[in-house]
Amino acid sequence: MQIAQWTAALYLLITPAYSAPIPEPYLVSISRLGVVENQFCANLSPKNSGYILTSEAHKDIILIPEIPGQTLSSGKYSVTLEHQNLKTSTLKMTASIQGDRVKLLSKTPVDILLLRQNCLGETPISDTWNSPFSGTKDSDTKAFQRRIVGRFADFRTAGGDNGHKHAGIDLRGGFGEEVYPINDGRVLTTSYKDLSGGVVIEHLLPDGSKLYSKYVHIQDISVRVGEQVTPHTRLGRLFDKTSFKKSRYTHNHLHLEIRKDYLDKGTGSSYSDTRNELEKHCLDPEQFLGKQLTKKPAHMEQDPGTNK
Ligand SMILES: [Zn+2]
Repeated sequence: MQIAQWTAALYLLITPAYSAPIPEPYLVSISRLGVVENQFCANLSPKNSGYILTSEAHKDIILIPEIPGQTLSSGKYSVTLEHQNLKTSTLKMTASIQGDRVKLLSKTPVDILLLRQNCLGETPISDTWNSPFSGTKDSDTKAFQRRIVGRFADFRTAGGDNGHKHAGIDLRGGFGEEVYPINDGRVLTTSYKDLSGGVVIEHLLPDGSKLYSKYVHIQDISVRVGEQVTPHTRLGRLFDKTSFKKSRYTHNHLHLEIRKDYLDKGTGSSYSDTRNELEKHCLDPEQFLGKQLTKKPAHMEQDPGTNK
C-alpha cells in the first residue's frame, strides 16, 4: 500500500461519522449568455439541507440539492442568488462535477462555474493614496482634478431606474489609457461586462478598518480575484475608440468609487435616492483623493488626459 493510501485509511479510522467540513474557498464565475459577468471568491459550507456560498463581494448563493447529500455532487439543485440590483432569484440548475470544477447550468441565460481553489488571499496594509492613472506618476491634486467630468452625488437616470445619485466620480482619460489601483490592496471582484466591466479592490487601513475602491468601464482586465495589488499593478485599460463609440458616453472615462462597506456587493452602482443615503456607504473620491494627493509632492508631468 502506498503512503497516500495508508494516510487515507488512517484518516477514515480516526474521523467521526460526520464532521462539518471546513468552509472551502471557491472561485465563483457568474455568466450570462456564455460571457463571464462577475468573478469573486466565496466560501462553501453546509447549511440546512444544502450548501451556502458566502462572500464579501457578492450576495450569498444558496444551493439546495434535490437529493440531499453530505458532499456537493452532480444532480439537480435549486439555486438562490441575489443580483447586483438586489433582486433575488431562484433558478433550477443542474450541477456536473469534474475534479475541482462544479458547473451549474440552467435554462435561463445564467450559468455558474465553481472552481475549488484558494482565492481568498490576504489584504496588504494600505500605504499612500494615488491617482488611478499612470501608476504613481500622475498623482498631484491638480492633474487629478483636471480629469473630473462627473461628480459624486450628481443625479443620474442611466441604468433604467427612476434616477439615482452618482456613487462615484467620472475621470476623463485617453483611449486605451491604463488604470491602476489607488493604493495597495487585494482584488475582490472582477467583472467582464462589455461596457461596464470593472474591478473592486479591498484596502486594509493601518487602523484595521477597510475601504473599497471600484473601477468601472475598464476592459482587458489583467488581475485575478484574490491577487494582491500595488499602485503599480495594471488593472486594465479604458475604452478604445470603437468601444467608446458604442458606449455613447460624452467622455471616455473611468468611473471611480470609494466605499466604506461592500454591503450592496457586486460591481453594480448602488441606487441611492439621497446624498445622505449615499454617504452612509460611499466617500466622495474628489474630496478624499484630493486631500490625500496634496500630501504628496506635485509632479512636473503633463496630465496625460489632455494629450490627445
Ligand atoms: Zn460614473
